[in-house]
Amino acid sequence: MSLEVKGCRELQSEVIARDLCTLCGACVGMCPYLVAYRGRIVALDECNLAQGRCYAFCPRTSLDLDLLSQTVFGVPYAADELGTVQEIVIARARDEGIRSKAQFGGTVTALASFALDQGLIDSAVLTASDEDMLPSGTAAANAAQILGCAGSNFAAAPTLAAFNRHSAGDAQSIGVVAIPCQALALANMRASPLENRNNIDKLKLVIGLFCTWALRYEGLARFLAQKVPLNRIVRFDIPPPPANLFQVFTDSTRIDIPLDDVRPFIRPACDVCIDMTAEFADISVGAAEGVRGWNTLIIRSHAGRELVEAARAKGIIETAPLPEQNLAHLKEASLLKKKRGLRKVIETSGSEDDLLYLKLTSEAVKGLLS
Ligand SMILES: Cc1cc2nc3c(=O)[nH]c(=O)nc-3n(C[C@H](O)[C@H](O)[C@H](O)COP(=O)(O)OP(=O)(O)OC[C@H]3O[C@@H](n4cnc5c(N)ncnc54)[C@H](O)[C@@H]3O)c2cc1C
Ligand code: SF4
Ligand code: SF4
Repeated sequence: MSLEVKGCRELQSEVIARDLCTLCGACVGMCPYLVAYRGRIVALDECNLAQGRCYAFCPRTSLDLDLLSQTVFGVPYAADELGTVQEIVIARARDEGIRSKAQFGGTVTALASFALDQGLIDSAVLTASDEDMLPSGTAAANAAQILGCAGSNFAAAPTLAAFNRHSAGDAQSIGVVAIPCQALALANMRASPLENRNNIDKLKLVIGLFCTWALRYEGLARFLAQKVPLNRIVRFDIPPPPANLFQVFTDSTRIDIPLDDVRPFIRPACDVCIDMTAEFADISVGAAEGVRGWNTLIIRSHAGRELVEAARAKGIIETAPLPEQNLAHLKEASLLKKKRGLRKVIETSGSEDDLLYLKLTSEAVKGLLS
């Protein structure tokens, strides 16, 4: 099956103007026209190419999930709660230094560093925040740089712009830490019919992050700046329900904000997202509900399994069985996001036959909505 490829003008009219853009960054860093500016994709000039990599790689143009699944895992799209799964455990970094800087258990930081150390990758594309908490992609070539990116910034980041730039350089084997829409864009690059696919063959590892939504930087920054100078913020947290809080940490204080106060900044594109667990990554990592300081870790691919097993054997991470009720909750939350996203897609298009950017069989749609 081939994917329809259009150009930058259609990217703007079909994706950006319709608020479907996730700010993944896949369309940036390849040409002089499209740039990411403070949480937005901006076209600096008109590009008249009939076919563009920007359109081909965007996860909000024509997303053929079966084709992507065949490309990444060699099997059809599962269209169930969690996608392709080999094993699910809870995990954490053994290194306390990593855990103290990380969002939860530091599994992502530990595994990215280990992959580098083992030579599986020669560099990693991650997300770092500047002094105003504006997040963007960055390429790291050592453990200290990877540790410097630890922690979650809940504002959306155009991380893949850094992949596009980095993959054009000397790096030969690249790992990417990606939220689900970014992992989808990378899968799109792999499956693209275009000859120029941004050196995607250099991509050797995708560490996915769970994601329910991401926030618009501009709105969030203006809101937070009324409470604390942005350059004093060191990290964010969203403690598990029933707290209903968005927590902002500085060096010396913690500011608790009702979660409902930041919800208006959720990107509209997240309302039509159906992937909570980064289904197209080699491994996916999220919080471990009720197990403080640990992560949930989903192993999906052969490469992911090898990395986790080697890291476990060398004492880089420790793992434990996922409690039964955690698995049930994870599936429930993921399915809920799929149902919500699909319903919003259908409500927006006005028809079950027009899924905006998604290509799913009607059986898959019925199965997910039932
Ligand atoms: C926008 C967003 C929403 C999330 N929503 C959920 C959720 O609903 N449920 C859940 O269980 N987990 C969610 N996560 C994932 C969670 O916050 C942790 O990143 C994950 O559990 C890994 O924990 P860790 O301790 O191993 O991470 P760490 O070792 O601290 O590594 C965190 C990694 O996150 C990356 N990162 C930071 N900010 C961003 C960003 N804006 N975009 C892309 N990558 C980024 C960095 O590159 C870093 O490598 C979300 C993360 C993000 C960024
Ligand atoms: S979703 Fe990603 S690729 Fe598509 S327009 Fe937005 S930033 Fe560009
Ligand atoms: S909810 Fe989906 S679209 Fe929004 S940031 Fe997360 S993965 Fe991307």
